Amino acid sequence: MTHTKIAVIPGDGIGKEVMEEALKVMNSLQEQDLSLQIETTIFPWSSDYYLKHGRMMPSNALDILKEFDAILFGAIGDARVPDDVTVWELIMPIRKSFQQYVNFRPIKSLPGIASPLANGRDIDFVIFRENAEGEYSDSGGRIYHHQSQEMTIQNTIMTRIGIEKIVQAACDYAYKNGKTKITSATKSNAIIHSMKLWDEHARRIVAQSSPALELESIYIDALVAYFVERPQDFQVVVASNLFGDILSDLGSAIVGGLGLSPSANINPEKEFPSMFEPVHGSAPNIAGKGIANPVAQIWSLALLLGHIGRPDIEQIIVSAIEKVLREGVVKTADIGGQATTAQMGDAICQEIIKMNLAARGV
Ligand code: ATP
Repeated sequence: MTHTKIAVIPGDGIGKEVMEEALKVMNSLQEQDLSLQIETTIFPWSSDYYLKHGRMMPSNALDILKEFDAILFGAIGDARVPDDVTVWELIMPIRKSFQQYVNFRPIKSLPGIASPLANGRDIDFVIFRENAEGEYSDSGGRIYHHQSQEMTIQNTIMTRIGIEKIVQAACDYAYKNGKTKITSATKSNAIIHSMKLWDEHARRIVAQSSPALELESIYIDALVAYFVERPQDFQVVVASNLFGDILSDLGSAIVGGLGLSPSANINPEKEFPSMFEPVHGSAPNIAGKGIANPVAQIWSLALLLGHIGRPDIEQIIVSAIEKVLREGVVKTADIGGQATTAQMGDAICQEIIKMNLAARGV
């Protein structure tokens, strides 16, 4: 029996709605006797919390979260609170303090989901985005505010060890999953300090990892074009924080949209809890309508369960999602249907139950 403590942070907007469906799946799994014992604690940290308390989460939030095995996160973002506050007071402290330096995003064609690309079939690759340093740093500043000579410096922090760790994680994944090629996103022709360091150590780590592993380094501007022109060519893509952020939203778009794409913020050493969240944000334009697609959130839960040692359950959830999408009877508006968030969650739960019963010969 796996006893796991999961911290749940639904957040803002559709985060709250899609989280309900993920929790529905989690409860259903537990009822089905899958030797899974999960204790969830829900934390209301969000923009509403900020408006009430003047901060996105309490000052001891990280100490509280540290005691959990994993974090399931919804989405954050609200017009009443500046975006840099929601991001830098909630998501960034968790990712950085818990050394969740791997942001893992699968990009996969799904049955029944049309890609906006004419050649958008059989896409199947993963992105390893560096998640703890790089371009997303609070190092820098601004002087001469509101004067004509106003100036700013925004520093990119890249460390040799940070580059080594993310590239190594990509190589380890490639080795475990029989992949032969790593694609590294770079721009060392123009960003001549940080990206040169990136290239140098990416080359070294891939070469050291396995002679069977090929490394291709592609400038980011060309790489976005290749994602559109020949997305089938990629297996494992490794990128800095900013490049990986952009590539993974593009990756989501080419396989059918943000509502389907999960992500994992992983601390591979398991010294700290890892955090699992959909790629999409709070989508204020559809929040409160009950029409958001819960697949990305439910798939993020699947990644969480795989991470805590239950790849069997991860597989069941992903297969159930694929079955529901393939059948196409229950579909939310973003993928061409009329189902509500709850109906989509229910359909996935029903499929999980059927699969589980079939596996047990019932
Ligand atoms: P935020 O500011 O929190 O990032 P956003 O609306 O700017 O929110 P996203 O939520 O990432 O950005 O998504 C952009 C658009 O994609 C949304 O406005 C919404 O129309 C659509 N979208 C995103 N997620 C979903 C979902 N789960 N289901 C349906 N549509 C979605």
